[in-house]
Amino acid sequence: MNSRHLPAVGRLVDALPDLPRTLVVAEARTLLDAVRDGAQPPSDWAEAVRLLVDARLAPRLRPVINATGVVLHTNLGRAPLGERARAHLSAVSTGWCNLELDLRTGARGERLHGVEGRLRTLTGAPAALAVNNNAAAVLLVLTALASGREVIVSRGELVEIGGSFRVPEVISACGARLVEVGATNRTRVADYARAIGPDTAAILRVHPSNFRITGFTETPDRDGLQTLAQKAGIPLLEDLGSGALVPGLGEPTVAEALADVDLVTFSGDKLLGGPQAGLIVGRADLVAAARKHPLYRALRLDRLVLAALEGTLADYEAGVAPPAVALLNAPVPELRIRAKALAELLSGQGWKAAAAAVDGQAGGGALPGQALPSWAVLVAVSGADALLARLRLGTPAVMARVAEGHIVLDVRTVLPAEEPALVAALAAARAAR
Ligand SMILES: *Cc1c(COP(=O)(O)O)cnc(C)c1O
Repeated sequence: MNSRHLPAVGRLVDALPDLPRTLVVAEARTLLDAVRDGAQPPSDWAEAVRLLVDARLAPRLRPVINATGVVLHTNLGRAPLGERARAHLSAVSTGWCNLELDLRTGARGERLHGVEGRLRTLTGAPAALAVNNNAAAVLLVLTALASGREVIVSRGELVEIGGSFRVPEVISACGARLVEVGATNRTRVADYARAIGPDTAAILRVHPSNFRITGFTETPDRDGLQTLAQKAGIPLLEDLGSGALVPGLGEPTVAEALADVDLVTFSGDKLLGGPQAGLIVGRADLVAAARKHPLYRALRLDRLVLAALEGTLADYEAGVAPPAVALLNAPVPELRIRAKALAELLSGQGWKAAAAAVDGQAGGGALPGQALPSWAVLVAVSGADALLARLRLGTPAVMARVAEGHIVLDVRTVLPAEEPALVAALAAARAAR
C-alpha cells in the first residue's frame, strides 16, 4: 500500500487515549508494517489497533473445557477446584491475610496453620508438612533425611514420572546414593535386607504411577518392609504419587500406606483433587527434619495455594468430595444419559452427533493402565482435525480428540455447567470455517 495513505502513529495514539501509549505505538507499528508488506488495510485503523492491544493484554493462561475424559490431565492443570477452595482463594487474594500471624496473640503465626491439622485429621498422621508439589516433597525429604548417605530402592520402582523427574537422578540431586535392589519384575524383602549397611539412611518405595509391570512379578508388601526397617532402625519412606484421601478410587489411601510406612509424600492435585502442592505426612521427627531443612524455605507454599488447599481439605472434613473425586466416581449410566442428551441437542443444531461408550483415563499417575469406562458424544464432520484446532483456539478453548474422523467429546470431564459453552464453542468453530 502506498505509504501516503497510511495513518501516522501519532494520530492513532491520539485516537486511543484510554490505552497505554507504549502498547498503542508498538501495535500500530506492527500493523503498519504488515500493511506495507501487503496485508489488507483495516477499514477502521484505531479499532484494529485497539483489538491488537486488547489481545496483547489478554491472559495467555485461559480456561479450557476438558472434553478429553482424562480427569487429572496434567497439561490442563490436573484437578478442577471445588466451590469452597475457590471461595477461600478469592477471599485471600484481594487484600492481606493472616498468612503468618496468630490472630489471637497478634504474634507471628504458623504458615501452615490451616492445613497441618486438617492433614493430620484426614490421614491419621502424627505430623504434616506441605510444599510446592510432590516432586519438591520428595526432594526435600530425601535431602533432609538421606544427604551423604544411602537410599535403597527396588529396581522395579526406578521410575520416571515425566518432566525429567527420575528417581535415580532425584536421589543423586539430593546428595544421596542410590542402592538398587532386586530385579525389574521381582524384588523381595531379602533383597532389601542384604542391602542394609551402616550408611543406609532410608528405604524408599515409589508408586509406579504411569506404567504397569504384569506377569511374573513380586513386590514385598508394606508390612514386610516395615518389619525389616524397624529391626534395622531405619525409616521406611513411600512416594505415593497420587495419594487418595478417601477409599474407593482404586489406589491405596494415604492412611492405609501410613499404617506401615514412616513417611508418605503425595500430590495435592492428583486424587486429592486440590491445587498443585506436595504433602508430607508421617512420623513427627522425620517431618520436623524436613521442615528444619533450609530447602523448605525455597519450596514453601504461598497464600493462594494454601487457601485453595485448606478449602479442599475442609471439604473432605465436611464429607464433600472435591470435583475430581466426584468426576472419577461419576456413575457410567449417568454419563450415558448426559451423552445422549448432549448428542440430541447437537443433532438438533445440524450436527451428525451420536452418543457412544468410550474408554477414558484417570490421569495424574493414578490407576495406570486402567481404562475408565465413560460415555462420549461422537460428532462426524469432514475436516475433524481442522475443527478440533479451531475449538482449541476458541473462547472458551475446548480440548477434545479425534478418532476415525469423529470429534470425541467425553462427557465425564465436561462439567454440567460448561455444556452450554461447549455447544456454543462448537457452533462458533463451525461458523469460522
Ligand atoms: C506425580 C508423581 C510425582 C510428582 O508429583 P508432582 O506433584 O507432579 O510434582 C512424584 N512421584 C510419583 C510417584 C508421582 O506419581
